[in-house]
Amino acid sequence: MVTVHCETTTGILNPIEDFGVLLKKYGIQYIVDSMNAFGAVPVDLTSCHIDFLISSSNKCLAFNKALTELKEEGGVEGRTIRYQANFSILKEGMSALGFTEYLKDEHQGYIINT
Ligand SMILES: *Cc1c(COP(=O)(O)O)cnc(C)c1O
Repeated sequence: MVTVHCETTTGILNPIEDFGVLLKKYGIQYIVDSMNAFGAVPVDLTSCHIDFLISSSNKCLAFNKALTELKEEGGVEGRTIRYQANFSILKEGMSALGFTEYLKDEHQGYIINT
């Protein structure tokens, strides 16, 4: 099975660990497209039972420089804190302007918002 970690159009952050646990139970290979989330959202390949993870250097990581900056920021955990803070500011500001979100909070990631 293939899933997208963070769906690009809406910003849905899929429950990749829940999917992985279920797929492992049925012996199904698991591919995660984490192109726009890898480097900004923690991924535990073992607990998520991911067989193949897809990413590249054109979104959250632009490799050599990006790895240096990621390390300076405190790794994925440090970046997560900044992205979540940015997301809160955006969400509150847009809400104050009268915008409503497309997704329910339980499906909303913190990288992309619609
Ligand atoms: C951008 C993106 C891709 C495509 O990545 P390219 O390196 O531009 O081909 C694939 N999947 C997701 C979820 C993306 O956000």
